[in-house]
Amino acid sequence: MKVAIIGGGVVGLTTALQIQRELRNAEITIFASDFNKIVSNVAAGIFRVGSSYTGPTEEITRQWIENSYSFYDAISKSPDAPYAGITVISGYIFGNSPGIVKNHWMEKLVPIYRRAAEEEFQLVGGNWKFGSFFTTLLTECKLYLPWTLQKLKDNGAIVKKQAINSLKELTGKYNIVINCTGLGARNLCNDRRMIPIRGQVIKVAAPWLKTFFYGELDTYIIPGFNGVVTLGGSRSFDSENIQLCPHESAAIRTRCETLLPSLKAVENIHEEVGLRPHRDGGVRVETEFVTDGYSKTMIIHNYGHGGYGVCTAPGTAQYAVKLAIDAHRLSIAKL
Ligand SMILES: Cc1cc2nc3c(=O)[nH]c(=O)nc-3n(C[C@H](O)[C@H](O)[C@H](O)COP(=O)(O)OP(=O)(O)OC[C@H]3O[C@@H](n4cnc5c(N)ncnc54)[C@H](O)[C@@H]3O)c2cc1C
Repeated sequence: MKVAIIGGGVVGLTTALQIQRELRNAEITIFASDFNKIVSNVAAGIFRVGSSYTGPTEEITRQWIENSYSFYDAISKSPDAPYAGITVISGYIFGNSPGIVKNHWMEKLVPIYRRAAEEEFQLVGGNWKFGSFFTTLLTECKLYLPWTLQKLKDNGAIVKKQAINSLKELTGKYNIVINCTGLGARNLCNDRRMIPIRGQVIKVAAPWLKTFFYGELDTYIIPGFNGVVTLGGSRSFDSENIQLCPHESAAIRTRCETLLPSLKAVENIHEEVGLRPHRDGGVRVETEFVTDGYSKTMIIHNYGHGGYGVCTAPGTAQYAVKLAIDAHRLSIAKL
């Protein structure tokens, strides 16, 4: 069986890993226009699925989220955890409306999700009315992606830095093509529901900080690996500007320092911008058949994860691979 994966971000590589697990004899080729300058490498990588995250149904979406958590949880408990960039992390979310501290995806999923105690409000600046504490996982893509790519190569995957301009380029050459192109799907599939949501972050060195903090207005402070902490953030709908905005940097600094005044003493390491691959109507994981006039090829789409692609990639990968296997079996049965 020949399988092509298009996309070298967290969705593409995790899907390729899943193919290797489920179809051990498959010959896998991964195509990506870039493996480094991608939004996956901008993400803080915290496992906190927003309440607005949507798949085809409530049940399927919950399954994606649970499977994703189990996938990362298993690695976090293995000796591979520091190399794969996966760790357990705890912290707080504070806000002034009750909705902000509730999260129907997360509350029953993670080991601890509780209201913040009275004295815990003193840990941060600001007069917050509501607060929650929870424990979750963090995946640092700058470690997870090279670790995954190496595993894939060790098990025989072929990796090509190459843009695919039309799905028809691969028609007839592969039994299954899995499209994990994120925002690239807007052109590749002419999917006008794909909308970039621009985000800007600042990386600072604060090795003493082990707890994450969220405030309102997209304010977050998330410790990662090697003492690097992500300060965020911003969400600009339908903006494709990948230049750093100094006004946004200043606003992020002010909001984070107000929430955690000890950050005033900390210097910036660097700043980054990424475009979240948001899809109006929800993440697309579905089967399509594409023909070039001579042969027909099965395409499984797996894109549009918005601001939650790191945390939900394993679940959609498992679902995409199941769709591929089911459709392949059906096509064989019809012969
Ligand atoms: C500031 C910020 C913070 C974030 N924080 C988090 C977080 O804490 N937790 C979380 O879960 N998510 C977070 N996200 C969201 C997360 O980064 C994305 O959801 C996720 O990275 C999407 O992964 P992807 O693989 O779909 O896309 P990408 O990483 O963009 O990968 C797409 C791949 O497809 C390739 N490609 C595209 N078109 C083509 C083509 N035509 N031919 C060949 N290759 C193609 C690209 O080169 C790339 O390799 C954050 C995003 C931003 C901007």
